[in-house]
Amino acid sequence: MEKPVFTGKFTQQEPIPDAAIAAAVAVMRSGRLHRYNLLPGEEGEVAALEREFAAFTGAGFALAVASGGYAMGCALRALGVGPGDRVLSNGWTLAPVPGAIASVGAEPVFVETTDALTIDLEDLAQKAKASGAGVLLLSHMRGHICDMDRLMDVARAHGLAVIEDCAHTMGAAWRGVPSGRHGVIGCYSTQTYKHMNSGEGGLIVSDDADIMARAVMLSGSYMLFGRHTAGPPIDRFETVKYDTPNVSGRMDHLRAAILRPQLAALQGQIARWNALYRVMEEGLRNSPDLRIIERPPQESIVGSSFQFLLPGWSDARMRALVAACAARGVELKWFGAAEPVAFTSRYDSWRFAPPQRLPRTDAILAGLVDMRLPLTFCEADCRLITGIIRDEVMSMAQQATG
Ligand SMILES: *Cc1c(COP(=O)(O)O)cnc(C)c1O
Repeated sequence: MEKPVFTGKFTQQEPIPDAAIAAAVAVMRSGRLHRYNLLPGEEGEVAALEREFAAFTGAGFALAVASGGYAMGCALRALGVGPGDRVLSNGWTLAPVPGAIASVGAEPVFVETTDALTIDLEDLAQKAKASGAGVLLLSHMRGHICDMDRLMDVARAHGLAVIEDCAHTMGAAWRGVPSGRHGVIGCYSTQTYKHMNSGEGGLIVSDDADIMARAVMLSGSYMLFGRHTAGPPIDRFETVKYDTPNVSGRMDHLRAAILRPQLAALQGQIARWNALYRVMEEGLRNSPDLRIIERPPQESIVGSSFQFLLPGWSDARMRALVAACAARGVELKWFGAAEPVAFTSRYDSWRFAPPQRLPRTDAILAGLVDMRLPLTFCEADCRLITGIIRDEVMSMAQQATG
């Protein structure tokens, strides 16, 4: 019998909603694309997006910027991180995270990963002490949120300021507190593969008026910081306006116009992602050899991607599984590969950072499989995909024992 094949595309996003297209066309017709190009009394799409995103996260202030990577670099600068400083971060994350640390001349110190795919809090405490770092750039990689109550205890005990990288947790929460609202600054991405799609884009939130005044200046506000509806009060810019460099990374009205209707619809999108995620979970739970990541009850997730572990599998078997699934249309990523491919790279390929050894992270990544879950998939697609993965895992496990 022919083996079923999946024909959907793992990189295909949904179209931009009609309301967003109409808003973008209106911006283009106006000719006023720059965020500070406003009519008298006009708020503008960017400031309106910031106001709505501040409300969405419950933050005092929000700032829209050019990318998620820019948001993290801006957050580090706003905290005063500079050349030679050490910044703690996850050993397992994506390249823009250590890249943001390197962009301010600082050195990433990578922290180990647990089998729940979150940062190892014991290793964090140890490295906080040993490194003398004052900042943790915490990446909620692939949406997995660690015990944020314990993490903040560790941060307080070691005097760490926490910046949260919420590229994969926009709309997620830990014990009801939105992701990005535990640390002093939250950073988000609106790049095509995240939870809202403006091609490129980022957002920063914080309750700290002085940090946000610096972030606004850094982002390239010139002396127009008064036009930020969701920015800090004008008096906070008194000295900041003279001593903060302009590192242009603004968002424009076109992107903000595309994002505002998506933000209004985000809760519904999250429900759809989570429905797909639960089908994946059910389909792969209790498969021999394969371990899914059980999500803690404190975590409100956004299931925009799916991960599972094949503990103890050899590199050759992992490669064979990825190839066998690919042949049936199921595009999996393996984080154990020695050479970086496409979006997937590992801490040991970030050679701009001082060399570091993370044996526990290595052991996790050796068996870690990752899959995108775009909203162009339906639940039946996910059932087909889990069937293919189960089949191929089983047949490989049999070959290995037989
Ligand atoms: C995508 C991503 C970012 C930010 O990405 P940009 O492409 O710069 O918007 C940050 N962290 C993680 C983990 C990401 O996947």
